[in-house]
Amino acid sequence: MEIIPQVHRIPNVTGANSYLLLGHTLALVDTGMPGNAGRILQAIRNLGRQPDDLTLIVITHYHVDHIGSLQAMTAATGAQVLAHRDEIPIIAGQRPQPVPRGALFGLLFRLVPAMSRFDPAPVDVPLEDGQRLDLLGGAVVVHAPGHTPGSIALHFPGERLLITGDVINRRANRLGPPPRPFTLDMAQALESMRRLAALDFGVLCTGHGDPIVGGADEQLRAWLQQLH
Ligand SMILES: [Zn+2]
Ligand SMILES: [Zn+2]
Repeated sequence: MEIIPQVHRIPNVTGANSYLLLGHTLALVDTGMPGNAGRILQAIRNLGRQPDDLTLIVITHYHVDHIGSLQAMTAATGAQVLAHRDEIPIIAGQRPQPVPRGALFGLLFRLVPAMSRFDPAPVDVPLEDGQRLDLLGGAVVVHAPGHTPGSIALHFPGERLLITGDVINRRANRLGPPPRPFTLDMAQALESMRRLAALDFGVLCTGHGDPIVGGADEQLRAWLQQLH
């Protein structure tokens, strides 16, 4: 599904949204839960590209609903993996995913392996705040910690586009903070949301829920304003 020219949300991916960027560099942002590689590869073919054309996979953060199909996607395409350096030990399987907050989620996480199980994948390029990526008209990495230590957003000033992962949540078409049970530091996450609100973007693509096309930065500022 095209959101704006050259930016697509891949249909029917389970878990988090997976976005395809069709600039001169073909890139994927996040991969959904395990089992989505076939859908993502088919979407690439449907858009007239080949799996081999995929050169970069950017991971917004280490949660399994975002990295679940990463290993399968790298195996199928040979794409390089980019993620913030603080997320690498978990994506690469050197450290376990932290147990969510709260008794219910903590218990489920321990009892239901599908909540946390994924095939680890090495990260080729560690990312830092302010790093520029040659995607679409040019992307800037924004470190937005709180939900996880190395959560990032991608800002595309030329397209006035922001892709955020879970640092901004969007459920039932409403903006909000990241889900509390899976957020390590909510105060820090809100601080990250304020930092993102200072950017110029009309289009917002969150990790979950539908994109906002037009006026997204104003909506985010208004949401932050009513917190006081
Ligand atoms: Zn998520
Ligand atoms: Zn998350």
